[in-house]
Amino acid sequence: MDSVRARVLDWFAHCKRPLPWRQDYLPYAVWIAEIMGQQTQLERVAEYFTRWMGQFPDIATLASAPEQAVLKSWEGLGYYSRAHNIRRTAKMLVDEYGGQLPQDKKALLTLPGIGPYTAAAILSIGFNQAAPLVDANVERIFARLLDLEEPVKSAAGKQRTQELAACFLDPHAARTCNEALMEFGERVCTPKRPLCGKCPLNGLCLAFRRDTVAMRPVLLGRPQRLDLFMACGIIRQNGLFYIQQRLQNDIWGGLWEFPGGKMENGELPEDAAIREILEETGWQVRIDAPFRSVVHHYTRYRVTLHSFFCTIAAGQRAEPCLAAASQYAWVEAQALARYPYPSGHRQLVAALLKSPVFPAHL
Ligand code: SF4
Repeated sequence: MDSVRARVLDWFAHCKRPLPWRQDYLPYAVWIAEIMGQQTQLERVAEYFTRWMGQFPDIATLASAPEQAVLKSWEGLGYYSRAHNIRRTAKMLVDEYGGQLPQDKKALLTLPGIGPYTAAAILSIGFNQAAPLVDANVERIFARLLDLEEPVKSAAGKQRTQELAACFLDPHAARTCNEALMEFGERVCTPKRPLCGKCPLNGLCLAFRRDTVAMRPVLLGRPQRLDLFMACGIIRQNGLFYIQQRLQNDIWGGLWEFPGGKMENGELPEDAAIREILEETGWQVRIDAPFRSVVHHYTRYRVTLHSFFCTIAAGQRAEPCLAAASQYAWVEAQALARYPYPSGHRQLVAALLKSPVFPAHL
């Protein structure tokens, strides 16, 4: 393992990518970057991270920030429970830890949104403590180096990788070892087309020698992607658009949207929009015209969201009767972009503001 470590560290010394949180490795910065990096590419994380730090430069500022400002800053990264958890954790850190992250795994694991991986990342990268880190990059490197046949996600596979990562770690250079190994997996020992010809480990790599690189790591069957179809209504009245805020404990809690929901089996999108709006607001609406259908992905789901311009039918009450929202607002077109939305509705707002149909139609 000494030889593997030496070669990876040498590669890292020459090829390390300059990322904004690597300037001073503040534990707060490492924590935010780690949470943002879950399910998101590094280039995107760097962009969001820089904006976030400009807005919330320390834990105390974050803890006192309004929820809507935090959600707006997170908008586009998805998985909004992460933003809610970050805010809750910041408040707990101010109340219970003097505004600092604790340097102790047990204490870190009590904080919302911090699991074993994030705790290890904060400890090793933020505090330079000897905590091994295993992500998909690390799993892939060891599975190939040792040409492992057991699935990396099986209990035995996970245990094995954890032991190998611990073995790789130099306790006096934990931060560098963990960062180097993960970045090496991301840029050299990549999932598809790894750079084996130029790889400093190719002389040590069993999969390379046996020509089994494409078969490693062995994965368990992936869950199937599921299609979900939704419909919503864009209601405009007196030059203002109707939007509502999702319930806090709901999926995408605290975000805003046009009223609507899931289509039922055999239901047409426009019928679903009319039914959902009635259920959610008590308003009977008339469909004026279809607008966009947009697609976004959420965990295992591929969501297709159909939208329609709608008008509230004559003789309806002026106030909505909210059944699936905590509050509502009538908003001018240019102010729509100030609110945080889940991905599908954000796409609709952007399309709406750009659409030539919008001024002509409404
Ligand atoms: Fe990965 Fe190829 Fe290097 Fe082996 S030789 S560690 S498979 S990049």
